[in-house]
Amino acid sequence: MPNLANGRATSASRVNVGVYDWEAFANAQIETEMIERSFCPSCDEASTNTVHASADYTLRRCTKCDLVFADPMLGGDSSYYQAHLVYANRTALDIQHERAHLDSRRCACMLELTKGGARTLDIGCGCGAFVAFARDEGRESYGIDFNDQHIRLGKTVFNLKDSLMIGDILSMPQEWSEFDLVTMFEVIEHLPNPEEVISQVYRRLRKGGYLAISCPNEARWQPMGRIFVDYPPHHLTRWTPDCLRGFLERNSFEHVRTEIDASLRDVLWTAYANRRARRKSTAPSPTNAATRLRDCKWALDGILRKLCLPFDAILRGAHVGTMGMRVVVRKV
Ligand SMILES: [Zn+2]
Repeated sequence: MPNLANGRATSASRVNVGVYDWEAFANAQIETEMIERSFCPSCDEASTNTVHASADYTLRRCTKCDLVFADPMLGGDSSYYQAHLVYANRTALDIQHERAHLDSRRCACMLELTKGGARTLDIGCGCGAFVAFARDEGRESYGIDFNDQHIRLGKTVFNLKDSLMIGDILSMPQEWSEFDLVTMFEVIEHLPNPEEVISQVYRRLRKGGYLAISCPNEARWQPMGRIFVDYPPHHLTRWTPDCLRGFLERNSFEHVRTEIDASLRDVLWTAYANRRARRKSTAPSPTNAATRLRDCKWALDGILRKLCLPFDAILRGAHVGTMGMRVVVRKV
């Protein structure tokens, strides 16, 4: 359903209306919503300041909660992401690397919040690397993503045939519920309807269950400039830690903790990613040479993370946030 933001959206229209078909998704159209709105999707405030205006959209900052949001809220559909520089042409080796190098913060989040046998759901799971990790740690884990290429790859490589689904939470089967933990890693900033998705997450959690969200920290230090994907139709919203916490609390969750990254590696990686994006408009083909190059990049990234540790301690001491943050809440 189009999200009318408590009935206050100025207008709403739907593009590419279609039907979800889990197994024959390649022939289906994903639903995309275009919502022109000047009211904040987090707190419903009407007063906003214009942050950025282009021919296609305006970025507005809510004067009440500080959320920056796109007007209209027009996000990319599955075909947009499948062709995108960041997501296209993933290989089995790529996602095995992703599984092997999973961010330890995500793992910690899982291990601390749940016990063996817990039911977990990763929304926007990509190829399912985190779903595979959770399964290997004894959780009953599921994942959903509207990128059918990634889901098909993950099902094969990670042997997650019955645990991954193409689609989104608004279309999930009823039996996918009573979760102990729902995770959304770098998802909320892509959503045209964050309040609708979060209310669905609340319904799908058991009482006492946790929701863990990670996304870019809008209050971060960014001396190398803003990462190139931080604009519509890629990112539709920009959240500060307080803004995201307030949003979740208004949606009936209890705050558990907020973690803010402080890593020089994030700053250097932003500069690298922006430079690479300027030089390449399409993703590299999965050739053997490209795969070997990516092997080297994973190894170099690991070395870079270690070299940055002394500087990271300084950043943490100065309370300087870099790219990422995580907010954990609980259904009470
Ligand atoms: Zn607001």
